[in-house]
Amino acid sequence: MNKALYEELKKGIDPSWIRRVLQEMILIRSENPFHDPPETGFREKEMADYLADRMSGHGLRVEQREVRPSRPNVFGYIDGAGGDVTLMLAGHIDTARTAGYPDAYESKFEDGKIYGRGACDMKAALAAYLAVVKALNEAGCKLRGNLIVCGNMDEEFQMLGSKAIGRDGPRADHGIIGEPTGLQVCPSNKGRVSTKIITRGRAAHSSVPEQGVNAIVAMARIIRAFEDYNDELLSRPPHPLCGHGRFTPGVIRGGVQVNTVPDFCELEVDRRTLPGENRESVYVEFRRRIEKARAEDSTLAYEITEPTWLIAPNDISPKEPVVEALRRAHVAVYDRDPGVQAFPAAADAPYMGFPTVICGPGSIAQAHTTCEFVELEEVVDAAKIYLHAVLDLLG
Ligand SMILES: [Zn+2]
Repeated sequence: MNKALYEELKKGIDPSWIRRVLQEMILIRSENPFHDPPETGFREKEMADYLADRMSGHGLRVEQREVRPSRPNVFGYIDGAGGDVTLMLAGHIDTARTAGYPDAYESKFEDGKIYGRGACDMKAALAAYLAVVKALNEAGCKLRGNLIVCGNMDEEFQMLGSKAIGRDGPRADHGIIGEPTGLQVCPSNKGRVSTKIITRGRAAHSSVPEQGVNAIVAMARIIRAFEDYNDELLSRPPHPLCGHGRFTPGVIRGGVQVNTVPDFCELEVDRRTLPGENRESVYVEFRRRIEKARAEDSTLAYEITEPTWLIAPNDISPKEPVVEALRRAHVAVYDRDPGVQAFPAAADAPYMGFPTVICGPGSIAQAHTTCEFVELEEVVDAAKIYLHAVLDLLG
């Protein structure tokens, strides 16, 4: 690690330039379209074009790979002078929805904070990545290893962008994703399995309920079967960073009108999973609990649907070179070792196909809210941390 080179290149990181670029990106409405085609207001493609223009302006070879029509991943490449190590700096170009957020696209700057949808989740990290490649290019710095800057689509829904990278490349040896962690270094995060449990009964007039089978009453038995599930999860040995798995029944629907015995009820449940847990292991636990209730009431008819959300946990070794490089970078910028933590939310990291750590500016507390912001100073620090890690791993 060439400290003098870092100190020199660091001077090329310009806060007012970062601020301008981040505000320009917030103005690009790139909400995830979820099930709909990408129309006005859901313009991941314009974010990809913006990044492509900026990156080619800073000397990167640029490529867009369409994952869905008009919904590409974008990559910028700096080929190293002979090293065979590749680092990818990745960030999603879609944002959460903006319903109930009237000034989502005003892109204000006040009291050192940049406001707007995508400010911290996660256009701030994309702006920091661009600041790094700008600094490298302007100084004519030649790296030994290869650097890829990636803007991937669809993180906020099905993570199709990162899954495409995992399947078809490009490959890297190390990955960093700048989701908002307050610049903490997060090699692990929980995953998520959400699904619907459905009970079926037989409709009848409420004057003769004995002629029907009540699906809501059946669901009550199932809900009771999960009553001590969180206690059981808490009694298991914790993951060193992620802690324990958690379970929440979140939505219930059933019944048609009050004077009819309901023949249908569905319960949406959310299970946060630890590294080592997956769809199959979770479904086994669900069935075991419901079957116990069914042993007491053989009329209980239920089904568990395919997952409505299925996101893998991430768990790379805290000893991975990219984790250690980020910790050293943190020391260089803040003069203290941040250690490692779990990222509280789910993200693209487990799908990339190579060890990927999450570390980025801003707080998850502001992500997805109707007052999203990031401190400019933290974005500038992020750029310094990424620059240091790039030189450390590829210099
Ligand atoms: Zn995000």
